[in-house]
Amino acid sequence: MSCNEHAGFATRQIHAGHQDLSAVGPLATPIFQTSTFVFQDTAQGAARFAGEEQGYIYTRLGNPNGNEVGAKVANLEGAEMGLVMGSGMGAVSACMWSLLKAGDHLLADKTLYGCTFAYFMHGLTRFGVEVTLIDFADLDAIKASLRDNTAVVYFESETNPDLKIVDIPAIVKIVKDHNPATKIVVDNTFATPVLLRPIELGVDIVLHSATKYLNGHGDVIAGMLCGSAEDMTNVLMVGVKDMTGSVIGPFEAFLINRGLKTLDIRVNKHCQSAMKIATFLEGHPAVKRTLYPGLASHPQHALAEKLFHGGFGGMIAFELDCSKDRAAEFINHLELCSLAVSLGDAETLIEHPASMTHSTYTPEELAEAGIGEGMIRLSVGLEDPEDIIADLKAQLDKIKK
Ligand SMILES: *Cc1c(COP(=O)(O)O)cnc(C)c1O
Repeated sequence: MSCNEHAGFATRQIHAGHQDLSAVGPLATPIFQTSTFVFQDTAQGAARFAGEEQGYIYTRLGNPNGNEVGAKVANLEGAEMGLVMGSGMGAVSACMWSLLKAGDHLLADKTLYGCTFAYFMHGLTRFGVEVTLIDFADLDAIKASLRDNTAVVYFESETNPDLKIVDIPAIVKIVKDHNPATKIVVDNTFATPVLLRPIELGVDIVLHSATKYLNGHGDVIAGMLCGSAEDMTNVLMVGVKDMTGSVIGPFEAFLINRGLKTLDIRVNKHCQSAMKIATFLEGHPAVKRTLYPGLASHPQHALAEKLFHGGFGGMIAFELDCSKDRAAEFINHLELCSLAVSLGDAETLIEHPASMTHSTYTPEELAEAGIGEGMIRLSVGLEDPEDIIADLKAQLDKIKK
């Protein structure tokens, strides 16, 4: 039932982290729907609290279902330890509350998931953390913005929503040359460990909204962090246990573990379909601009080819050559693509970042982050790509004949 560390990605996404329940014999790990765990005696309870004996205490500190997901995703990301949390934002906040204190400086990319942006700019700054946002495509700007008190450098490996790819090895070198103690945290939600593994490139901590591709079925909210055992234990004992209480339920963890077993199959299909759809969009006269890292026209296409393994993801951003109102009408008339935020699901989802996922930005901040009023974000699902293209084409053709 278990696998060795040399096993392939697909083998590990099914078997890594599996626990020994040989006395019981279930194929799938059952749901441990329990808040707490019974100690044999007071000595055992004390030993577990002191960390002298391995074992479960209370589900906020660990549960067999959550621990299996943590160990599995850590294995896939090439990390020592992983933690699964109640949401992606729970992972962002538990991580930052553990790494930062008043007086520290956080340097982050200017294009961020909307709630990450709000937490950094309107949350952390209230507690005495200095935050600077810059364009991480500009390596000289990163070098110039690092300070003596820069405790954390944060970016998305593929930015939301404009799909910028950043040069992770170059950034790691600049940051670690400046100060080896500065932690580099990367949100790898869009790329997934199938396509990109930042820890192998020298990053300290990888973060996921497991709500998206890791679960993949649109029925759970969850987050993940992977990193060294030292960093993850710090996040668990400070950020999760005390400062956020961002805990995942055993049933949600069970569902993510189920979703993970098909991660590479799903991601490869998302990639193949997205390439076809991006190529179609780029060739349609009603589309002004198509952003997809797999297209030769993408500003960081060469970098994406260097960093990504076997595909360029399932996310596409595009702009229509028409008014805002006409673009809204286009979205409203689609039949197969669902108008919804979130991403990475079996169903194709379409949304308007400026008024939805990124509405936490002011109009000036949107312009600064490169998120146009006309930008549309598409999360390519697992349907037949021909059907997704037909749905888009029927409405695009009405804009320009
Ligand atoms: C959705 C998302 C988050 C937040 O995750 P939740 O699970 O919704 O809390 C963070 N980063 C990225 C890139 C996301 O897409």
